[in-house]
Amino acid sequence: MTLFYSPHESTLVDEEGTPLLLDVEAADYKPAGRVAPGEPGRKSATPHVLKIQLGMQCNYSCSYCNQAAQSDASTVTRTADADDFIAGLDRWLHAPPRRIEFWGGEPLLYFAKLKRLVPALRARFPSAVLSMISNGSLIDGEVLDFIEEYDIFVAVSHDGPGQHLRGPDPFLDPVRAHWLREFWRRRGGAAARAAFHFVLTPRNADIGETRQWLADRIGDPSLNVDMEGVVTVYDQQTLGGPGSWSDADYERMRVGVRKAFADGDAPKVRDLAFRAQDFVESLRNLRPSSSLGQRCGMDDPDHLAVDLQGNVMTCQNTGARGKHRIGHAEAMHDVQLTTATHWSHRESCNHCPVLQLCKGSCMYLQDDLFAQSCENEYQFNLAVLGATLHQLTTLTLKSISGDIRRPQRRRVIPLVAA
Ligand code: SF4
Ligand code: SF4
Repeated sequence: MTLFYSPHESTLVDEEGTPLLLDVEAADYKPAGRVAPGEPGRKSATPHVLKIQLGMQCNYSCSYCNQAAQSDASTVTRTADADDFIAGLDRWLHAPPRRIEFWGGEPLLYFAKLKRLVPALRARFPSAVLSMISNGSLIDGEVLDFIEEYDIFVAVSHDGPGQHLRGPDPFLDPVRAHWLREFWRRRGGAAARAAFHFVLTPRNADIGETRQWLADRIGDPSLNVDMEGVVTVYDQQTLGGPGSWSDADYERMRVGVRKAFADGDAPKVRDLAFRAQDFVESLRNLRPSSSLGQRCGMDDPDHLAVDLQGNVMTCQNTGARGKHRIGHAEAMHDVQLTTATHWSHRESCNHCPVLQLCKGSCMYLQDDLFAQSCENEYQFNLAVLGATLHQLTTLTLKSISGDIRRPQRRRVIPLVAA
């Protein structure tokens, strides 16, 4: 049986032209901005999501770190800058954000700054969701009391069986393991104020196995986890290492995705369940591709990343001392997002069957780094698309064809000579 799918109109029909889903009805969607270096995006002084970059120091050194290539460009701020940041908010922030995120490096290395920022922000924006992603290695009783008092949602990054790509495994240290279990007991489960996150790499390619690994260490068989997605390639080291998957790695990942859906584990992995659900919604509502921004949201004027000196950056993973400084919060009208390329400007994304699931990988990557990141996204999202189709129809995706254009790799390898 052949099905016909348009990722631009979100139509999925059989050979007679009959929609596969019964309850299809076009919904209203706003067009997304289409930023590019020549069509800069803007930033709003009333952002919904405010990302505060505390600094890029980290006590781990992940082999696929999305900030390693940026750490020299990050501003070095003092603890006192946190007070100046709070004092300066009235000059540029004109409405309460819905969500405020604290970013490192490892954000808990900046606990002294957090102790100045968080109480002031919580008092000023009582309804805002406060959140951070941490490697979890610095969580102790004082940190737990603090995140509980100010109700901060904390996601701990841990790659389960692939943790050695990140650094030491905190579960091998009895003290750290104790605090991680305590963290989950007090903030996870029914409280839903905590999560364990992993990045999918060739070393933990099986999603169900990774969830089970974490569930065993936490001692909660029904542990729900989240995924930060499939590994993205930000530098040559990652390209030559865990960013590049073999065919066998991709196959293990595909089998793992199929198994997670078949065994009923998929709903316990939030990103997996969300992608599948979002894809079904796109079909049900005939979501046009023109409404799709980038998955991370940083092309959106309402998503703002700043450091403690008010510098605005492309995103929280970039430094303000290099090309990713796109302006200053106190001159928001002058901020220009010139460093990003919306998916609609990439030939491969325009001709991609998983566009509605992927939404374009990282918006500032180019050339080989983009090509490999795209390949990882492509393989993963194709597996999710296949598994979702199977859930909807019991059909098994055998092959996919059409005018699919994959990104070109460089044919010439640059030699750098000194
Ligand atoms: S898989 Fe690649 S081509 Fe497809 S939408 Fe994602 S980045 Fe674009
Ligand atoms: S632009 Fe988006 S995808 Fe790229 S590093 Fe920043 S947050 Fe991540």
